[in-house]
Amino acid sequence: MSDTAPPPKVLARLEETRTRREEYYRHLHAHPELSHQEHATAASVAGRLRASGLEVTEGVGGTGVVGVLTNGEGPRVLLRADMDALPIREASGADHASTATATTEDGTEVPVAHACGHDVHVTCLLEAADLLAGERAAWSGTLIALFQPAEELGDGARTMVADGLADLVGPVDVAMAQHVLALPAGTVATREGPVLAAADSVRITVHGRGSHGSMPQTSVDPVVLAAMIVLRLQTIVSREIDPTDPAVVTVGSLHAGSKSNVISDRAVLEVNTRTYSEATRAGLLASIERIVRAECTASGSPREPEFEYYDRFPVTVNDPGVTATVRAAFETHFGDAAGELALQSASEDFSDVPDALDAPYTYWGIGGTDPEQYARAEAAGRLDRDIPVNHSPAFAPVVRPTLEVGTRALVVAALAHLA
Ligand code: ZN
Ligand code: ZN
Repeated sequence: MSDTAPPPKVLARLEETRTRREEYYRHLHAHPELSHQEHATAASVAGRLRASGLEVTEGVGGTGVVGVLTNGEGPRVLLRADMDALPIREASGADHASTATATTEDGTEVPVAHACGHDVHVTCLLEAADLLAGERAAWSGTLIALFQPAEELGDGARTMVADGLADLVGPVDVAMAQHVLALPAGTVATREGPVLAAADSVRITVHGRGSHGSMPQTSVDPVVLAAMIVLRLQTIVSREIDPTDPAVVTVGSLHAGSKSNVISDRAVLEVNTRTYSEATRAGLLASIERIVRAECTASGSPREPEFEYYDRFPVTVNDPGVTATVRAAFETHFGDAAGELALQSASEDFSDVPDALDAPYTYWGIGGTDPEQYARAEAAGRLDRDIPVNHSPAFAPVVRPTLEVGTRALVVAALAHLA
């Protein structure tokens, strides 16, 4: 990072706060909490925000925390971090690896790990808020630091919105968030337009008429009906959607019947979809319902099919203006370490926050993988096999320079609007 502009004054304390930052991160990493159970994390976040001088509201949508720092006239900028971990047994080999367990809603004891790196997001946002709070003469406006629960379930942002987030934070001019990814540590990556897929799951129940396996003429066979649906669903992506607009329809589960000589009276299909625009998403889901209803009619199904939607994530589409502002600031600050983020097939619920507040937003990636390990894997053509990605038991971002770069990125992006 040689050919870059001098860092803003707000970053002057980055060096002296390193130990605090790294110790806090290691603590969080070793004490992960499942979605909607982020009680200790939320309490420590609230305590640190107060110590930095922010006005703090706890318990928003369960364990959500919002810190507000009003600093004169100017834009109202929201930065968001997610706090939850995953039911995964960590196998990263890191000194600070988690050995924690927790009890899920249905009473099962599970191992827990920050295998998606949300502990990086929490640490970096706390540090960025503290640096901005400590150098108020360098900027003007309002900083809103939002810590949300349950990103992994796709409903943490929605629970905060449903709990009156809009009234709590007031108008917001721009919202931003970041995610640590399996990219070289030290890098930041932005993308204009679609960046993360919308995801929907739908449980479809179709009805037949049960009968004896030897007397099909008295039945409506839901197995044949379901088989026709599975095949016909394949034509949505291949025949109905623009080939330049990626989409996925996967039938991940299909259950019907119990015995070879019994024709059952129903079949249940579970379908998962990914799309990159609200228009394509709406069209694709409508196509699924149309095909299922039509196949039920074709089979003479005695009852209407049922559709139950769950595990829904919105599409994330970065605003061109906000993204251009942040990208320019990153290029000035990070030089060659700032690049283009590839389209991601993963999904996020971050955009539920800005969408509810009617605010433009951008979402970027930061690297968390040891750069030498990354370069070796890339040279060997083994990136997909040798580099642990988010949700892998071996995923654990390197502490340096990931935390520092994530903190810098938030400060630089915030100042691009507030300075
Ligand atoms: Zn995740
Ligand atoms: Zn994540």
